[in-house]
Amino acid sequence: MKEKHYIGVDIGGTATKIGLTNHAHELLDHRSIPTDPDRGPAALIDDIASAVTRMASNTPAAIGVGCPGPLSPSRGIVFSSPNLNGWENIPLQELMQTRIGVPACIENDANVAALGQYAALPLEEKSDLVLLTLGTGIGSGTIINGQIFHGHHETGSEWGHCIVQPNGRACPCGQHGCLEQYSSATAMTIIAREEIEKGGDTSLTSGATAEMIVNAARDKDPIASSVLNSACLYLAIAIINIQHAINPKYVFLGGGVSGAGEFLLEGVVEHVRAQRWSAHDDHPIIRLAPLANTAGIVGAATLAQQHAGA
Ligand SMILES: [Zn+2]
Repeated sequence: MKEKHYIGVDIGGTATKIGLTNHAHELLDHRSIPTDPDRGPAALIDDIASAVTRMASNTPAAIGVGCPGPLSPSRGIVFSSPNLNGWENIPLQELMQTRIGVPACIENDANVAALGQYAALPLEEKSDLVLLTLGTGIGSGTIINGQIFHGHHETGSEWGHCIVQPNGRACPCGQHGCLEQYSSATAMTIIAREEIEKGGDTSLTSGATAEMIVNAARDKDPIASSVLNSACLYLAIAIINIQHAINPKYVFLGGGVSGAGEFLLEGVVEHVRAQRWSAHDDHPIIRLAPLANTAGIVGAATLAQQHAGA
């Protein structure tokens, strides 16, 4: 009997990644195609179908798709997405199944990335985890008992919008003081620019990217150090709240800002140590996410495998 293969698709605003895995979640092949969302979903699904035909020598058993939300995994519909201009109430699951001819499932992109990180852990280390992806915003996914946690409205685990500062910075979501307004790459560049415009002591210019801020912080630039320290502090507050809400074994940090690597991790861990409770030794292990660019496709393929009951 031929080994079963699974397809994982990670739709992003610019590029769509497609991967082929086996039952052990090993990535056998992967490629990237332009998303070009303005063409509409049908054209993208055609391109995905062509890529699947080229990658898989036999028909895959199932296909899983990670997509920016909001969306409903249970109904298979993408409601709308700021990253996929013009996509409104798209029955993505049905469109995929019809075009590719295998069972399909859809899921929020951050959730499949979290499942991908879980799949990458050695068997003896697999346990409940939360992934925070630090990029333009802060995405997050929670894995409990090997499954994505959704909650009643299927919008659970939005840790980027947990409030870490009462009456804090305005967030496009309508709240004030959300984590992503302090610790995302975008937030760091905005806060740095505000400090530079106040005339503080720095080598940074007002167009500094998050990467430039991190590099300057390594060189002990005062504004860069302050911005990064504040991002780490707010992440630490969120992680302590995650500890009390979920009590995961791991909190993984992924996404663009996590390119700051150990330097970022040390800052976060230091603030967590300084503020966490002493009532019980139930603190999560905080690590950089083991998979960098392939978490989405591995997670989507893992989800497809779970739905196929394999
Ligand atoms: Zn928010």
